[in-house]
Amino acid sequence: MAFLGTLDDRPVWPRATLDDMLVTFGGPLPDEGLDPVEVVEQMAAGADPGLVGIPGGRFFGFVIGGTLPAALAADWLVSAWDQNSGSAMLTPTTVALERIAGRWMLDLLGLPQTASVGFVTGGQIANFTCLATARHAVLARSGWDLAERGLRSAPAVRFVVGADRHGSIDRAARFLGIGRAEIVVVDADDQGRMRPEALERTLERCEGPLIVCLQAGEVHTGAFDDLAALIPIAHRNGAWVHVDGAFGLWAAASPALQHLTAGLEAADSWATDAHKTLNVPYDCGMAIVRDPADSIAAFRTGGDYLVYTGLDPWDVTPELSRRARGVPAWAALRSLGRSGVAALVDRLHEHAVAMADGLAGIDGVEVVNDVVYTQVMFRLGSDDETRALGAALLAEGTAVVTGAEWRGHATQRCSMSSWATTPDDVERTLTAIRSLVPA
Ligand SMILES: *Cc1c(COP(=O)(O)O)cnc(C)c1O
Repeated sequence: MAFLGTLDDRPVWPRATLDDMLVTFGGPLPDEGLDPVEVVEQMAAGADPGLVGIPGGRFFGFVIGGTLPAALAADWLVSAWDQNSGSAMLTPTTVALERIAGRWMLDLLGLPQTASVGFVTGGQIANFTCLATARHAVLARSGWDLAERGLRSAPAVRFVVGADRHGSIDRAARFLGIGRAEIVVVDADDQGRMRPEALERTLERCEGPLIVCLQAGEVHTGAFDDLAALIPIAHRNGAWVHVDGAFGLWAAASPALQHLTAGLEAADSWATDAHKTLNVPYDCGMAIVRDPADSIAAFRTGGDYLVYTGLDPWDVTPELSRRARGVPAWAALRSLGRSGVAALVDRLHEHAVAMADGLAGIDGVEVVNDVVYTQVMFRLGSDDETRALGAALLAEGTAVVTGAEWRGHATQRCSMSSWATTPDDVERTLTAIRSLVPA
């Protein structure tokens, strides 16, 4: 509570380095134990200088949400209950909360109510889980039983992605035995959206089992692939379509923004995060698969002592023993309600527009992207000045934005992802940036 109380005033970037913190907590493991209350007090006292103001309203780096109060308290309950939530037979309360959270989320996002929802650690593992399911399914459709015969002699799976996909897609492919040179890359436009005519041309050359990976919410620009155009092209060519919507999928929950995800529901699998736009604590992502039978085929485990109750968490994720990380998602959804989720997403977009307008009004600052959603990217006249501005802002302490490379130029990225951000936070950040931009 003390830490949360400091968020409005503390420098958002930490004052201590990793080395400082290693000294604070380090030394050899003491022989003797310590009273649990003292352990926690020692940790809390030492931690402060190395903590980042991530749960506050002016952390705009990467794509990182804050934590809604109900979700934070629910997360404490998850630890106190200590329910190993792999199977409904063992832990009915947490599995029920997760199952309902999954159904609510499918409903909010306009996805098929019968889809399987696996709560995993984040977007990376959600992409991995969905793509592992996809690989299994497309091989099965071409007559290859992956579970029985393995990958080594299997028909090559064509893995088609957009030029501006997230790095976690290639990493998921690597885990799945798909090499970098095997990934087929389709051209993207200036905002990072896959070009439909380029996909059409690419798929004419692809034979055999096929996975097409699309994106809802490009991490720099916030742009959305034109799903209504792309998914039918992929399906006409027999592909499994996966959508990485780590933060963008939530646009579908807003009547004002759901035009961005038009066509979304036709895909075969979707990955998203709850710890970004939904603002639950780390960690919580969701792997969603249209046909639960495909999830079961890829993930159901054996074991004479395991009891099956229909669709258990261990049927739809790579985990066996697992934390009930979907419970905070239930609390976040219940606390916001349908209208509250829409209002949250709308607010993030409005803050992004206000930030972009304010930045564009500063002499020497250029906003680089079309601000359609929650991402604002900007730069100064040169790469060096752009990088220096980011570093100066971290040192100044008001807010955090993080740097990136976009189309060969240095930029700063500002991601609106926190429920805690207010119009005043946007103003304070703009004032700080104004004071730091060279005249
Ligand atoms: C954040 C992000 C991921 C990875 O999600 P983690 O929660 O960090 O594992 C994947 N794709 C996109 C588009 C993202 O923004």
